[in-house]
Amino acid sequence: MIYKVCEIFESINGEGERAGEPALFIRLAGCPLRCSYCDTAYALSFDSPHTPMTAAEITAKALESCIRNVTLTGGEPLAAQGIEELLRSLAGAGFITEIETSGCVDVSFVDSITPRPVLTIDYKLPSSKMESRMIGDNYRRLELCDTVKFVAGDEEDLRRALQVMREYDLIGHCHVHISPVWGKIDPQRIVKFMLENRLNGVKLQLQLHKMIWDPERRGV
Ligand code: SF4
Repeated sequence: MIYKVCEIFESINGEGERAGEPALFIRLAGCPLRCSYCDTAYALSFDSPHTPMTAAEITAKALESCIRNVTLTGGEPLAAQGIEELLRSLAGAGFITEIETSGCVDVSFVDSITPRPVLTIDYKLPSSKMESRMIGDNYRRLELCDTVKFVAGDEEDLRRALQVMREYDLIGHCHVHISPVWGKIDPQRIVKFMLENRLNGVKLQLQLHKMIWDPERRGV
């Protein structure tokens, strides 16, 4: 299987439960969604500039880096044909693999991979314009180590996030994070919403990489 690799780079995890830890990022080209706030336009098309690589080549590159956390991202990495082979290769090499996925691809197959990759799965809220593409079953099968991330851009998004948390009984069954759409909503408003609704067990998460580096910068 050949994968379309947009970039491989070392940084810290900017979000997710491993935020702040060193990570090796593998970004694959292509995403079936078009979120209103997407910040990875360069990886959206399945024809985005990329390097074709096999699972063995990607795994060898990862082994060179000596960083244990691998974050597979995109685009939508699970939309890549034969992605299971790459995930098995990384797991077999001893990496802790976190998959950043959008919620629009069935994630059930990851349960058959040992060690199972960790999922950080978005739930696309109304302001993304992509909520209709969310697969409800994805949110019913999550494990304690997984994370659901709500990226909120306005008040309607916050109200909808709360409904979804309740609908899928997420709090206590996996990690639940709320992040602001960068520059669209004041994080203070999210904190107020969390306190007003007594969202015990939910975390506000700011994207560390956008605070440390220029928000437009690639490869960080
Ligand atoms: S899922 Fe991610 S990569 Fe795809 S359009 Fe939305 S924000 Fe961009």
